[in-house]
Amino acid sequence: MATRFRSLDEPVEALVGDRTARVLAEGLQINTVGDLLRHYPRRYAERGDLTDLASLQPDEEVTVLAEVASVTERPMWNRPKSSLLEVIVTDGRGSLSLTFFNQKWRLKDLQVGRRGLFAGKVGIYQRKRQLTHPDYQLLPDDGTSIDEDAESFAGALIPVYPATKALASWKVANCVRLALDSLGSIEDPLPEEIRRRRNLLPLAEAFRLVHRPQTRDGIRHALERLRYDEAFVLQVTLAQRRAETARQPALARPRQPGGLADAFDSRLPFVLTEGQVAVGETIFEDLSADHPMHRLLQGEVGSGKTVVALRAMLTVVDSGGQAALLAPTEVLAQQHHRSITAMLGPLAERGMLGGSDAGTQVALLTGSQGSSQRRQALLAAASGDAGIVVGTHALLEEKVEFFDLGLVVVDEQHRFGVEQRAALVAKGDKPPHVLVMTATPIPRTVAMTVFGDLEISTLTELPEGRSPIATHVVPVLERPTYLERAWQRVREEVDAGHQAYVVCPRIGDAEGADDLEPVDDPESPEDRRPPLAVLDVTPMLVEGPLSGMRVEILHGRMPPEAKDEVMRRFAGGDIDVLVATTVVEVGVDVPNATGMVVMDADRFGVSQLHQLRGRVGRGSAAGICLLVTEAPPASPSRERLDAVAATLDGFELSRVDLENRREGDVLGASQSGRRSSLRLLSVLRHEDVIQDAREDASGLIAADPSLSGHPALRSALAAMFDEERTEYLEKG
Ligand code: ADP
Ligand code: MG
Repeated sequence: MATRFRSLDEPVEALVGDRTARVLAEGLQINTVGDLLRHYPRRYAERGDLTDLASLQPDEEVTVLAEVASVTERPMWNRPKSSLLEVIVTDGRGSLSLTFFNQKWRLKDLQVGRRGLFAGKVGIYQRKRQLTHPDYQLLPDDGTSIDEDAESFAGALIPVYPATKALASWKVANCVRLALDSLGSIEDPLPEEIRRRRNLLPLAEAFRLVHRPQTRDGIRHALERLRYDEAFVLQVTLAQRRAETARQPALARPRQPGGLADAFDSRLPFVLTEGQVAVGETIFEDLSADHPMHRLLQGEVGSGKTVVALRAMLTVVDSGGQAALLAPTEVLAQQHHRSITAMLGPLAERGMLGGSDAGTQVALLTGSQGSSQRRQALLAAASGDAGIVVGTHALLEEKVEFFDLGLVVVDEQHRFGVEQRAALVAKGDKPPHVLVMTATPIPRTVAMTVFGDLEISTLTELPEGRSPIATHVVPVLERPTYLERAWQRVREEVDAGHQAYVVCPRIGDAEGADDLEPVDDPESPEDRRPPLAVLDVTPMLVEGPLSGMRVEILHGRMPPEAKDEVMRRFAGGDIDVLVATTVVEVGVDVPNATGMVVMDADRFGVSQLHQLRGRVGRGSAAGICLLVTEAPPASPSRERLDAVAATLDGFELSRVDLENRREGDVLGASQSGRRSSLRLLSVLRHEDVIQDAREDASGLIAADPSLSGHPALRSALAAMFDEERTEYLEKG
């Protein structure tokens, strides 16, 4: 044996030739011995079990285990001196043809009855599936000597690796075997105590069992260990971040009795839900600590997150500080400004006639404001006159100064990156407290992973007196009359004094990306007709089924003042029907709106539809949401729509949504050819693993924040914590 490795960071060049190393790096992004050992088999072929050949799809790169059924060799009619070797392999039922040109010598290998692995791209020739010039590896025949390559097949379970054209599965297997054979006593980054308590295999043994398995049970144990590692490394990193935050200094902002916050509470026209009270208490506790709060508040659409945030903001104002509320869109910023001002009433009118002296001011800062308005807002923020500053990303600009920024509230986090959060955080002398709100509920462990450096609070109940939203799918192709019925329902809502939304995926009148509001279309839009557009649908409605009603439009290409104007008039009841794009998706709050018709509903993602639907039924009258679609019954699109119609549970729906995405998308990692660091761990399927790892990681970091007692873990973190991982964590 040449070398023995103790470190998994050794380059693969130390094991294999330069050419192979290059192919490994280019084709499979394998650069180190560790990368190679973490290149796990895609599946395992059982020696006795041949691959089901009927299942092969054209153009697929496959590795099949099959038996040679017949071999024929004949000259090619159009090319003298050339020969064609055709080998038919079988799985006992179907067959696959292998063709080789001018390779007569293979006759001696490929004998009838021999079994082997055959790899190549499935082609169709004369309506039969075939592999042209496949790479192959015959299994050792009894009585023949086992050549070195075939040693990988000695076991009953044959690992089949993700391979490339240039490097067949068994060649990958050979490289892995070299790595395993040269493995010295590698240091196990997982602390021994945790490994034993969790009943996990030592690392080297797990590598052996996953790559050279004897039994399915062995594979299972190996995978358990290796999967745990992925969760653990991630959670240790996140625990470190939380610990770092906890060490940062922040100004404590304890609740002051008799201040604005109390005055506000006693003005509230409703009783807070139990959840609102409980989360409020948690936040007050966070705010009175002298290190910054980093909390995620998730809650169903309409669960009343804004009130919770406002109570926190007022607490900070009472202690002499300021709060900034960052909204993802101009429409939302304006709405927040309006509703906060309204909720505060005289408390927001300090310095104005009739305003409360104890009060404060609420400033609005957006990108499109006129310069005098803007100057005023900037001044109010810098002087501290405005206790609360509401805004869009304009708040992040360098020019914006605060007198004493104590709390940053980020509404609808998923539209903000961490850099933006960081920009706001940098505006204080000491880092401010941060509260992030999202109405896109995500399963707890996804939250733990994606927003792993945040503590999480959840509002699970809706305020009482909310009427449920009835949701129906309107399949226009099968039931054309249902669409008429839908418009009739809108008319009924309006006749009853209510209002309605009609939502379209597209604006209209323009080409390309410019025309689409951010729609989470889960399927590829190719070869489908363009989705329905606001500007096309509106005139049809006005002249047709909605004639006589006050119909107006709202979309992202309108100037901000126009958007604000329309929203204000809709909120004031001066508009009956608003035809809009997804600009109404997040947070828009008009309790009198009770009806919603979503056109081409299948073009929206599940969570997005749930968000949209949350716009109706915000008051005491029952809401109705109609999902119009041309998707055929039993199609995946229809199933998604049926799921939305079947439940109002946003957590359930976000699960449906996530299941339709790939893991990388869930974590926001780019898939562009880089190795994903999560290969075995699924944030949806392995919640228990993530939970366990989180506990272990928190315990470990609490006891040894710098990991000085765990050098192997420290270097594993450094190695695995590559660019990509940082990138997706940054998105949290
Ligand atoms: P979201 O969580 O979607 O941001 P909001 O904070 O916008 O929800 O609240 C939705 C509506 O419910 C608002 O009009 C708000 O005033 C009202 N609301 C909030 N809390 C309560 C409560 N405890 N009882 C009744 N209405 C409430
Ligand atoms: Mg909201």
